[in-house]
Amino acid sequence: MMTSAFHFNTIEEYIETIQENREAFVYTRESNPTTKILEEKLAQLEGGEKCTVFSSGMGAISATLFSLLKKGDHVLLINTIYSTTQVLLKQLESYGISWDCVNTVEASVAVQHIKETTSLIYFESPSTQKFELLDIKQIADAAKSRNIRTIIDNTWCTPLFQTPLKHGIDLVIHSCSKYISGHSDCVCGAVIGSKKLVSRITQKGLILLGAVNSPMNSFLTLRGLRTLPVRMKSCHQVIQNVLDYLLEDTRIEQIFHPYCSTPQQKQLAEKYLNGFGSLFSIVFKEKDPEKVFRFVNSLESFVIGVGWGGYESMVLPSFKGNNQEELNQRGLDITHTRLYIGPTEAELVIEDIQQALDKAFV
Ligand SMILES: *Cc1c(COP(=O)(O)O)cnc(C)c1O
Repeated sequence: MMTSAFHFNTIEEYIETIQENREAFVYTRESNPTTKILEEKLAQLEGGEKCTVFSSGMGAISATLFSLLKKGDHVLLINTIYSTTQVLLKQLESYGISWDCVNTVEASVAVQHIKETTSLIYFESPSTQKFELLDIKQIADAAKSRNIRTIIDNTWCTPLFQTPLKHGIDLVIHSCSKYISGHSDCVCGAVIGSKKLVSRITQKGLILLGAVNSPMNSFLTLRGLRTLPVRMKSCHQVIQNVLDYLLEDTRIEQIFHPYCSTPQQKQLAEKYLNGFGSLFSIVFKEKDPEKVFRFVNSLESFVIGVGWGGYESMVLPSFKGNNQEELNQRGLDITHTRLYIGPTEAELVIEDIQQALDKAFV
């Protein structure tokens, strides 16, 4: 509903409402009818008690960390994490919060890095860039026994392909800018979990920091949500066909996606995933960034840029001409290239990738 404030018939009604003795909308920074519908649907899909929606995925992540952490706390990150989330943790150092990022796919190794002061474990599964899975339940169990909260960024899977709350994770975060809204036409985020925790994030994180979703973006996200099942079904099918092709192409050295990974990763996929997302990375045999750029520029049905989860297929190499050292630090190959396949026909994508490979790697 496109309004900032809601009106009352009497001053008594207003006072009763702000004293929380009566339920009504007051101001859109706190709540709005359209946003509330979106929150109820996302909570239901994830199997959580409550959801709060934000104006971006980062809005959800920053509000969650700001409202749950305090001076002296330690945060354990596992595996590769969305880079802006790591930048946020660096920023939180100036507020007396420390953190470590453990690079492992073994949950049992990761939890050995828990400290006395660890109050939060934050991870993605599959992870950013390498799309490696972690044993969610093992992490949740280890954290629970030590009174540590767990947060997962579930953007790649959407609630249709993975529901981490069922495995004991405390909070699920989404960038709804990707698959959930699904049309690359809005930026939106969400956090889902118990009523108690999410209410705290709403009070301390949403209302104070103010990353509130506009009612228009809640509407767009709700509309996208209606086709999420058909889009995800299509992506699940198309990605397997595309990967089957890429596995056979000798110009490609490695593919990062649970469908193509180690037997241990495939076991985790079997255990946790109800389907495959269509965002993945490849590295090429020939370590020549110029050829990678030629490949990227030769793709006809892909757009170049950040963001993914919409209608268009997308491509983005990690090498930007001057960041080789940063890539080395992150354990990424100089030819590491991320691709997103939209809900389309596999044959068209395969044909396009094939012609671009032919042009680039003659
Ligand atoms: C895009 C993304 C985010 C950030 O979300 P925004 O909506 O862009 O703020 C966080 N995590 C993952 C995995 C993402 O892909």
